[in-house]
Amino acid sequence: MSCKKIIAVFGATGAQGGSVVRALLENPGFVVRAVTRDVKKPAAVALHDLGAEVVKGDLDDQKNIEAILTGTYGAFLVTNFWDHFSKEKEICQGKMVADVAKRLAVKHVIYSGLEDVKKLTGGKLEVLHFDGKGEVEEYFWETGVPMTSVRMAFYFENFLTSMKPQKAADGDYYNLALPMGDIPMDGMSVADIGPVVLSLFHGPDHYIGKAIGLSSERLTAQQYAEKLSKHTGKTIKDSKITLEDYAKLGFPGAEEMAAMFHFYWMKPDRNIALTHKLNPKISSFDQFLSENKEALKNI
Ligand code: NAP
Repeated sequence: MSCKKIIAVFGATGAQGGSVVRALLENPGFVVRAVTRDVKKPAAVALHDLGAEVVKGDLDDQKNIEAILTGTYGAFLVTNFWDHFSKEKEICQGKMVADVAKRLAVKHVIYSGLEDVKKLTGGKLEVLHFDGKGEVEEYFWETGVPMTSVRMAFYFENFLTSMKPQKAADGDYYNLALPMGDIPMDGMSVADIGPVVLSLFHGPDHYIGKAIGLSSERLTAQQYAEKLSKHTGKTIKDSKITLEDYAKLGFPGAEEMAAMFHFYWMKPDRNIALTHKLNPKISSFDQFLSENKEALKNI
């Protein structure tokens, strides 16, 4: 009989879950059960080719999740607010997994959580995609499921995609719209979460019942802009946009993102030293940019 531990990975075809699958597969002690709603999509087929057991699963279907978690030692759970923009839906999905994990006595769930900002600020600030995850964190612990929450920092990848610098209308330079004033903001590559999660599965006793704020490093908008300039050879400036103006940018989620940056002004607890201990190979922003030369061409 194999003594390998089966880990169900939700969001396996996505950024966080994909990194977790890859890290676990490199370790002979684990069997990976990669969950996707579409086992035929290219990202799912790629996971199968890497050696994962790819299973069809939907976080809106409890029976389905029961079958997936049966026989597992642990699970990595990420829910995707940006799929539906609904705090309630994220809470519903997260609580359902907590209930099933409790019933099946899953030994260790690693949940991609975040702070309940509304609760922390006494209702003064709401960040829907944080608050729902914060409620789910609490629920896991109240229910008694052995759970570690990993609170991700801002992905470095955002600077090459949704938040990439924009060409200025009035000159030969680019603007980085990061409404952080002079406050440093934590960041990390989402590709670096996998080894963190692997370390947590290896050392559960130290981390069960805790929330760990992840970060590779903490830089100001000016510093992010300088490093982007260095690696692209283009002039990229901190646009010095305010939170108020950012909220009015008009893209879907602009107000929600502005609320998140508002919370970042309060310097949430992200533990750089512990993150480096859990993933000693984690990339700095400089290293990340050096490793992503192709994507930098999109700026
Ligand atoms: P992603 O790359 O967009 O992938 C989303 C994943 O969720 C996919 O694998 C998708 O799987 C899966 N999924 C969505 N709905 C599902 C459902 N009903 N049942 C089963 N699987 C479902 O997302 P990500 O970046 O890994 O994670 C997104 C989360 O990260 C968000 O909630 C966000 O708040 C959080 N976050 C983001 C940042 C950031 O800087 N961007 C920082 C901290 C936290 P299939 O489509 O294959 O089924």
